[in-house]
Amino acid sequence: MMAVRKFHRKERRVLPMPNLVQAQFPPPNGMSAVAKFYGKFSYNDLSGGNAVITDSFERDNIITLKNTGGTGLNLQMHRLVAPLFEVCLKDAMARCPKYKIRMLGGFNVRHMRHDPKMPLSIHSWGAAFDVNWDKNPMGSKLITDLPPEWVAAFTEQCWNWGGSWKGIFDAMHFQYAIGC
Ligand SMILES: [Zn+2]
Repeated sequence: MMAVRKFHRKERRVLPMPNLVQAQFPPPNGMSAVAKFYGKFSYNDLSGGNAVITDSFERDNIITLKNTGGTGLNLQMHRLVAPLFEVCLKDAMARCPKYKIRMLGGFNVRHMRHDPKMPLSIHSWGAAFDVNWDKNPMGSKLITDLPPEWVAAFTEQCWNWGGSWKGIFDAMHFQYAIGC
């Protein structure tokens, strides 16, 4: 099992980040930083708030993690966050061995909340994932079956959890981006 340095909650953003993240990058802050960091692409809107990328972004950046963490599930993510995701997933599974991951979704080109008037979701860059969405729905109340330690395995490495947002909770959702 990997060693993950633990922070007190308030210190998380100000201390030097754990080796793992330090070796990589802090989460981009805001939509323009997301596009700058993960890459720009052109796209066409489809129905239902979905979209399709029309250039080489997907081919150049999105990779498929097969049987990720031994879950039997495949997940498509951006090449820059996929290694961090896999390390955090393994850590979450080690901390919460009884918690079963039954559903995982990553790269998915669409607008936030499937609303074409909203910005593109971070899923469009492959820098977000959803887990067990049947038990962790989006809504005005926080509903989740995720153990706090499972969530912490990601948030301690600077993943942004939708269950910690204000106004609307998206407990299934984790993204490696802030301010959007
Ligand atoms: Zn999501």
